[in-house]
Amino acid sequence: MAGSFLQVECPDCENEQVVFEKVANEVACAVCGHTLARPTGGIAELEGEVVEVVEDRSQDALA
Ligand SMILES: [Zn+2]
Repeated sequence: MAGSFLQVECPDCENEQVVFEKVANEVACAVCGHTLARPTGGIAELEGEVVEVVEDRSQDALA
């Protein structure tokens, strides 16, 4: 069930924002409001360029 987080660069303003790869709702750029990710039921449809994949490390915090 664990998913990854994607660092996505906004195509309009180059803001980089971390987006969950399986979003339930549309995610807009925090700076300019451009839609960065759309829900598809699986891996989100992304508008921006993925600059980095950030693995889910929530389990590491418990170790
Ligand atoms: Zn933007």
